Amino acid sequence: MTADARDLVGLVVVSHSRALAQAAVTLASQMLHGSPVPIAVAAGLDELTLGTDALSIKEAIEEVAGPAGAVVLMDLGSAVLSAELALELLEDPSMADRVVLSPAPLVEGLVAAAVTAAGGADRQAVAAEAQNALLAKAAQLADPASEAPPPADQEPAEEEPAELVAEFTVANRHGLHARPAARLVGAMHGLDARVRLRNLSTGGGPVPAGSLTRVATLGALHGHRVAVLASGRQASEAVERLLALAERRFDEPVDEGPAPALVQRDGPGPLPASPGIAIGPVRPLGRAGGPESAPGNRTAGGQAAAEPAEPGSPAQEWRRVTAATATVRREIERYRALAQQAGPQQAGIFDAHLLLLADEELLADVKVRLDSGADAVAAWTGAVAVVEQQWSRLPDAYLRARAEDVRAVGAQVLAALTGTTAATLSGPGILVAAELTPGQVTELDGDALHGIVLAFGSPSSHAAILARARGIPAVVGAGPGVLELPEGSLLAIDGATGELVLDPPEAIIALFRQRAAERAIRSSTERAAAAGPACTTDGVRIEVAANLGSQADARAAADRGADGAGLVRTEFLFLHRDAAPDRDEQAAEYLAIARAMPGLRITLRTLDAGADKPVSYLPLPTEDNPYLGQRGIRLSLARRELLFEQLAAFCEVARQAPINVLFPMISTVSELRDARRVLEDAAGPGGLPDGLRVGMMVEVPAAALKIASFLECLDFLSIGTNDLTQYALAAERGNAAVAALADPLDPGVLTLIRHVCRAAAGHVPVAVCGEAAADELAIPVLLGLGARELSVSAPSVPAVKARVRGLDLDRCRAVAQSALDLPDAAAVRALISSALPADPLS
Ligand code: PEP
Ligand code: MG
Repeated sequence: MTADARDLVGLVVVSHSRALAQAAVTLASQMLHGSPVPIAVAAGLDELTLGTDALSIKEAIEEVAGPAGAVVLMDLGSAVLSAELALELLEDPSMADRVVLSPAPLVEGLVAAAVTAAGGADRQAVAAEAQNALLAKAAQLADPASEAPPPADQEPAEEEPAELVAEFTVANRHGLHARPAARLVGAMHGLDARVRLRNLSTGGGPVPAGSLTRVATLGALHGHRVAVLASGRQASEAVERLLALAERRFDEPVDEGPAPALVQRDGPGPLPASPGIAIGPVRPLGRAGGPESAPGNRTAGGQAAAEPAEPGSPAQEWRRVTAATATVRREIERYRALAQQAGPQQAGIFDAHLLLLADEELLADVKVRLDSGADAVAAWTGAVAVVEQQWSRLPDAYLRARAEDVRAVGAQVLAALTGTTAATLSGPGILVAAELTPGQVTELDGDALHGIVLAFGSPSSHAAILARARGIPAVVGAGPGVLELPEGSLLAIDGATGELVLDPPEAIIALFRQRAAERAIRSSTERAAAAGPACTTDGVRIEVAANLGSQADARAAADRGADGAGLVRTEFLFLHRDAAPDRDEQAAEYLAIARAMPGLRITLRTLDAGADKPVSYLPLPTEDNPYLGQRGIRLSLARRELLFEQLAAFCEVARQAPINVLFPMISTVSELRDARRVLEDAAGPGGLPDGLRVGMMVEVPAAALKIASFLECLDFLSIGTNDLTQYALAAERGNAAVAALADPLDPGVLTLIRHVCRAAAGHVPVAVCGEAAADELAIPVLLGLGARELSVSAPSVPAVKARVRGLDLDRCRAVAQSALDLPDAAAVRALISSALPADPLS
């Protein structure tokens, strides 16, 4: 803004539509002939989505309100509420005294205000001109039958506006449940009309058509007659829109039959992510610390959602609420974008959630509670509970179940408010959620968590890896439809096949139980033999080690006959806390892991944070492609003090147990040299402890291709097939849509592995610690290419050893060689299935 502009009153245009606001500004600017009136727009939730947002309005006011202050012009309904809220959010509360919220009509008011402000008028004069802006139009159109609106300083007549009345019958099989109600509410956005609905069949209402929570409480079921009462300038347009929508059954598909027994979707999922059978009630994620939480529930850090010690002022508490809802809105918008890939119907679930977040009635109730002294958590919880109760008292079971949406959104905001991850279960059963962070998987109570179903995600995400490590059956990429499964309904899943059956008939339950029993027999046979070495039929010893994240994993690995720990993902010690663990805490944890596996070699990987393992106290700039950004060794080298402390802890433990140090995500020799220098410094004057070996993860395709240059600095290599595959095939590892593409048996990935094994032969041993190491079809190829250690989740160790013991290495070499010439992973899998068949490991 120029110095001149700062002397003028600033204008803020608040509208539900960004396009509308920008066009209005263009129009007003034409009248200014270059005069520098500061005008800011806070309109729409994005370019295309209608809505208003208090935070953007606040920022717009702060941008234009100089010493002369600002006048805010708004369009309809919630624009006014949001602008009022924005005043309370201002960083400098005294600024609110210099801001006038104008009741003027948006376009005419803006033009009048801009022209007046350009002349240097003060904000009262600017606001008055804006408010009188309709006079000219009214005078021009004056006809004896219609009176011009009263000037701003005159009391308007208290007259009920004429109401249009229309009626429709609900044709949707489940009535006006969340999705059609969301369509209805969305269609009313941006209209200059007051629209109310009454359920003529039950006498319910009237309720405002702009409030999702209220529309749902109409209890409008299939066949109910609903009256539409509309007034205001665009009343007839509102009625027409509403009737047309009702006619189209609110854009719900015609065939709304009961959910099919086998939950299927158009996309690639559901995908098997962690073997095992689970049969149990659906449990959503969340409800941190609520009074109805079941015993044994806990949130991040093992505690109930913490209340702030001292509630702030209503304005401060409101600020917390708006910040939390903004965070959750971004999260839901991301889910919505993912769901959109499966079709608009799927994305509709999240539209309902977004509307709930912005629901005027809900937010107004929160505000009332804050004004009467409640803090943000209490006000939000109380207001959500009211809505939830209204919904759960509805007579129709399907609509009642939609109270789940309210709970889900309520819990998400509560989690954002309290800084917890809300990783709780309301009771034992199968967790159904959109996504899980690795931290959440580790937090969830293992006794209650019988299985996991995720709408998104892929089997090589860290959440899936952890589910396998914990032996929790999981199915991922199941599509957002699963988020609508009513809580408590019975679900059966097979995490080895990806099958997901809702309300399973007795026959399916029997089949699943039989599978579970057969697998249990087989796994107990494998476990009985697990302690012994795994040698191929031609006598070559293959180390089968375990991937760990905790002491519990280490105990499980020792119990299952692991030959060592091929990968300790130390980052799990760094997640979900306020500060990094210090050297002593780290050393104690690593030593405890080593002691849980006495005498066995432990491979400690340095912090591999970033991408899907963010660490809150190591803030990173927002990255468009976090997997290609500052993760792994790149982050550690940027935070050398952390790397130094970690390596010092490694060295301390290495003086007491056989330790490997492993550096993740190495791309260049200079990174490796640099990391080694920090290791040598951390080791101190005595030098590296005896027996300490240094290795690097091979995860970056370029590093695989130039591996020979790294060897002089190394004692071993460990191929991370999860990342190597995602980078080689440009297929993000957590993305269900490309999960089938991200197959480590792609001949391109195998060619990289062969190159690494050939270059390393005779110099250093090669391990594989990605998930491919536990894949029954990948194992013979990896061994055939030259890998001599496989590191897998602890529960997989016995089965991997069993698989190795059935293989002939020469045969593996021949099959691996042929695989390299095949066109794709599917062909490789077909080849191995016929040449070296194995029973499923699950
Ligand atoms: C890998 O990338 O294969 C690997 C083992 O590391 P992480 O899964 O922890 O990224
Ligand atoms: Mg990796």
